[in-house]
Amino acid sequence: MVPFFFVTHWALSVFFQSLFQHRYAAHRMYTMKPRTERALHLCTALVQGSSYLDPRAYALLHREHHAFADTAKDPHAPTHHRNPLRMMRETARRFEGLLTRRLRSEPRFEGGYPEWPLAERVFNHWASRVTFGALYTLFYVRFATQPWHWLLLPAQFVLGPIHGAIVNWCGHRYGYRNFATRDESRNSLPVDLLCMGELFQNNHHARPASPNFASRRFEVDPVWHALRLLSRLKLIRLQSSPASQLVPLPETTDSVATAA
Ligand SMILES: [Zn+2]
Ligand SMILES: [Zn+2]
Repeated sequence: MVPFFFVTHWALSVFFQSLFQHRYAAHRMYTMKPRTERALHLCTALVQGSSYLDPRAYALLHREHHAFADTAKDPHAPTHHRNPLRMMRETARRFEGLLTRRLRSEPRFEGGYPEWPLAERVFNHWASRVTFGALYTLFYVRFATQPWHWLLLPAQFVLGPIHGAIVNWCGHRYGYRNFATRDESRNSLPVDLLCMGELFQNNHHARPASPNFASRRFEVDPVWHALRLLSRLKLIRLQSSPASQLVPLPETTDSVATAA
C-alpha cells in the first residue's frame, strides 16, 4: 500500500506541476474559464500538499530560466554548480525571495500567471505544509508493513523540490539533443513517465511555446495527451499561438533541428 501511495503521489504531483505551474502559469499554452482555473489550481494545491509550488513564483523563476538558460543568470544551471543539492539550495533561495516579494524579477517576466490570494495564503503557509506532512505520516503509521517503507516518507514531504532537482539537473546534463539550441538542454528519457514530459528539456527549449514536449515519433509526453483530452472535453482551449512573448528566448538561441 505504501509504495503504491508513494508512486501515485509522485506521478500526480509532477503531472500537476507540468500541467498547471509550468505549461499554464509560466507559458500560457492554453486558456480556460476562471472557474476551471480555480478548480485546477485547487487540485494542484491538494495534490502537491506539503510541497505546493506557488504559481506566480514558479512562473517568474521559470521565465528567468528560459531567458538566461545555462548562463550565470540562470536560477538553476547545473553547469554553474558542483552538485544538484547546491543548485537547488540557490534555486530555493530565489524562489522564496520571489514568493515573499523580497526579490523582484525583471518587469518583462511579470504578469499572465494565475493569482488567487486566498489559496496562496493558505497553501503557502507552514501550517498547511505541516498538516499535509502529518497526514502522510498517519498513512504510513496505518499502512507501512516493512521498515524500508519509512525511507520513502521524507521524500514524500518534498516531492516538488525533488522533481525540480531531477528536471533541472538531468535535463540540462544527460541525454540526447534533437535541436541545436545554444543552451545545454537535453532530452533525458524518450518515454518520460518519471517526470511526465518535463525531461524533454531540449525539445522544450527549442520550442518553448509548444504544449507538446515530444518532438520525434518515439517520444512520449504524457501531459500533452492529457491536454489534448481536456481540450476535446472543452475544459481548456489550446492556444494556436501561445503567449511565447511571456518567455523571451535568449538572443543567441538557435533552434535549428539537427536530428528531427
Ligand atoms: Zn530547462
Ligand atoms: Zn518552460
